[in-house]
Amino acid sequence: MANSKNEHTGEFVGDVPVVAKSDVVVVGGGSAGVTAAVSAARNGCSVTVLERYHHLGGMASGGMVLVLDDMVNNQEITVSGIVDEFVQRMRKEGMAVLPPPEDRHASQEMWEKWSRWGVHDFHKAERPQPITYAVAFDPDAWKRTSLDLIRENNINLRLHSFFSEAIVEDGVIKGVICHTKLGRQAILGKIVIDSSGDLDVACSAGADHSQGQYIVTTVFRLANVDTDEAMRFEYEEPEAFAKINRQARRIIGGAWEMWWLKTPIPGVVWCNCPHMPGYDGISVDDLTKAEYEGRDRMMNLFRFARENLPGFEKADMLGAAEQVGVRTTRMLQGEYIVTKEDVVERRHFADTVCRGRDYYTPYRALLPKSVDQLIVAGRHYSAEPEAQKRSREIPPCMAQGEVAGIAAAMALDADINIRDVDPLKIQKQMRAQGADPGDVPSDNATGVGDDVATASVA
Ligand SMILES: Cc1cc2nc3c(=O)[nH]c(=O)nc-3n(C[C@H](O)[C@H](O)[C@H](O)COP(=O)(O)OP(=O)(O)OC[C@H]3O[C@@H](n4cnc5c(N)ncnc54)[C@H](O)[C@@H]3O)c2cc1C
Repeated sequence: MANSKNEHTGEFVGDVPVVAKSDVVVVGGGSAGVTAAVSAARNGCSVTVLERYHHLGGMASGGMVLVLDDMVNNQEITVSGIVDEFVQRMRKEGMAVLPPPEDRHASQEMWEKWSRWGVHDFHKAERPQPITYAVAFDPDAWKRTSLDLIRENNINLRLHSFFSEAIVEDGVIKGVICHTKLGRQAILGKIVIDSSGDLDVACSAGADHSQGQYIVTTVFRLANVDTDEAMRFEYEEPEAFAKINRQARRIIGGAWEMWWLKTPIPGVVWCNCPHMPGYDGISVDDLTKAEYEGRDRMMNLFRFARENLPGFEKADMLGAAEQVGVRTTRMLQGEYIVTKEDVVERRHFADTVCRGRDYYTPYRALLPKSVDQLIVAGRHYSAEPEAQKRSREIPPCMAQGEVAGIAAAMALDADINIRDVDPLKIQKQMRAQGADPGDVPSDNATGVGDDVATASVA
């Protein structure tokens, strides 16, 4: 198929027209990818971002995953940097809600005030769980903020571009090919950041990886919910509430205890359900079936809630998220594979470059073993499935993106391989950008000073 003239630099890769060239190519405009692009651009790189859909944000917007969490180690805020800019910008529009510092503690009063925003520390065993620093936000505000940051940083954004093949020469990635309405298009770059969430680029480039799988979810939203009445019922009639809530969770066939949460738009709630096991998040057949099954299940719950749950009598179905919620598919097996013990035991690494909650991420977990000038950021980073399950929330994915952007710029400045960038320099730049690189271990960290990381390189 012919390309329009204005989408062609005049060069070809084989018979594929080259439509853009930049220092850095970011594949996937989700939370990790947009952060990576902004970070690379601010460090002096020209950047192109490819995204298959018409919107940016991935799970955080198209998937309607509407709480930023995993940013706190007890009272210490451990994830900061570009994520803070998202929060500040959305807050200005009234589209992000977070508890003030004085409300961040455990008490029944705070639980009743805040837990339906999803801003409690769900890793804590104590009841009520403490209210913590976490942020409920609106999906379109996330898309707008992403677009604004991309435009302000002069990043070349190419939506509607589905990555299909990595261009690799002698073990070095040189760019990518994507499918578009105008046929195949090539984008060349000196460094490629894979933030597709499913490891599409690294996998195509031949990097070692594992195949993970977990529940998928067609998140949906309801409007016209009387949330005050729903909460009154929950706290004033706890036994009746517990009975109906149990039935609701059975009817949808798998949901967290708190299956509906408030959003910044009054009367609109998001439902982080159903849990649908057995689907492969990169299989066309499975993803198609999941759309049907998810909608069947959500309508069952919707009808039940309208008839039985106080506060939901007049609820309307706003519909399922544009993207089915996929948590885990392919994951890199990179220079280091983060283990469940690393996360659970809060192991610190000498090359820690970012962190989430109370755990630490070594630089090597972003680097494929065999492909040069390629780095990954986001939920497909190099981790065991049981480690990824505990470390893939939106903010830590963004922190990885921030690292990847910095590392790309440093590699290009020094004209070296990205795997040879000094993690200590990345740590320094993360701090300069207001992000926490995790170089200073918290009191509850373990393995500090050990070479645990090197010992368990896979
Ligand atoms: C139902 C559900 C509930 C969750 N709950 C929470 C929560 O409450 N709080 C929290 O913080 N986290 C939560 N998570 C986890 C979190 O949402 C994700 O781990 C995180 O958003 C992943 O970000 P990412 O940028 O790595 O990947 P993604 O958000 O998946 O972004 C990948 C991007 O790449 C694009 N892309 C993929 N393939 C291609 C291709 N071939 N070509 C071009 N573009 C491509 C996608 O369209 C997307 O924009 C939840 C996840 C799910 C599914």
